[in-house]
Amino acid sequence: MNNDFTGKVAIVTGSSRGIGRAIAETLAAGGTQVVVNYAKDLEGAKKTVDAIVSKGNTASMFQADVSVLSQAEDLINYTLDKYGNLDILVNNAGTTRDQLIMRMSEEDWDLVLRVNLKSTFNCCKAAIKPMMRKRYGRIVNISSVSGIAGNAGQTNYSASKSGVIGFSKSLARETAARKITVNVVAPGFIPTSLTNDLPDELKEQTLSHIPLGRWGEPEEVAEAVVFLAGEAAGYITGQVLNVDGGMVMA
Ligand code: NAP
Repeated sequence: MNNDFTGKVAIVTGSSRGIGRAIAETLAAGGTQVVVNYAKDLEGAKKTVDAIVSKGNTASMFQADVSVLSQAEDLINYTLDKYGNLDILVNNAGTTRDQLIMRMSEEDWDLVLRVNLKSTFNCCKAAIKPMMRKRYGRIVNISSVSGIAGNAGQTNYSASKSGVIGFSKSLARETAARKITVNVVAPGFIPTSLTNDLPDELKEQTLSHIPLGRWGEPEEVAEAVVFLAGEAAGYITGQVLNVDGGMVMA
C-alpha cells in the first residue's frame, strides 16, 4: 500500500484536542506537514504541535474561527504562504448544543449549523481553487452516525452532519475531474470533551447498541481519515466510512 505522506501539507480544523488532535498527530507521523487549527483553545493547540514536533515531525498552528468565511480564507492563505501548497484538508471542527426541539433555541440551532456545516463549506470553498490548480486534493469531512441514523435531542447536530454528507457527495462530483477526492468519516461514540458531559444513563444505553461492545478511540477515527487522505484511496470519492463499532449498518 502506497501511503507515504512525505512532503504533503495538511490542514486539520479543530485539532486542539480530541479527534482532531489524533488526526493531526497520525498524519504528521506519516510525514505530513500539518497546520493545527483552533478557535479558542490555544493551550490545546500548543500541545498538539508540541506532540508532533517532539517526534521530529512538522507542524504549526493557526487560530481561526472557521465558521467565518474570511477566517477560513486566512487559514488557507497562511498554509499556502508557509508551505507553498495544500494537499489535504480535514474538516473536523465541530460542536454540540443538545436539546429536545421543544426547548431548542434558535441560537443553538444556528450555532451548530454554522460551526459544523458552514465551516465545512467555508474551508472547502477557500481550498478548492489551489487544489483545482494543482489538479490534486484530498478532502475528508467529519460527519457522525447521528447524521445518518438521527438521535433524539440532536436535531440541530444531526441536520448539520447529514448536511456534511450531502455537501461532500456534491463536491466530490464537482471536483473529480481534477483528481480531488472528497470523502466523509462518520464516527460513532468516541470519548472526548464533546461527549464527556453526556448523562451516564445515555452512555450506557448507547453502549448497548454497539456490536463491538465498546466506545471507539480518537486514534481509530484518525486511521480511517489518514487512509482516505492517502494515495491508496485515490479511487474512492463521495463515500461515507463509519467508524462506530458497527452501531449503524447500511
Ligand atoms: P472536541 O474534543 O470538543 O473538539 C472539537 C474541536 O473543534 C476543538 O479543537 C475546538 O477547538 C474545535 N472547534 C470548535 N469550533 C471551532 C471553530 N468555530 N473554528 C475552529 N475550531 C473549532 O470534539 P471531538 O469529539 O474531538 O469532535 C471532533 C469532530 O468529530 C466534530 O466534528 C464532532 O462533531 C465529530 N464527532 C465526534 C464524535 C464523538 O463521539 N466524540 C462522534 C461523531 C462525530 P476550540 O476549543 O479552540 O474552538
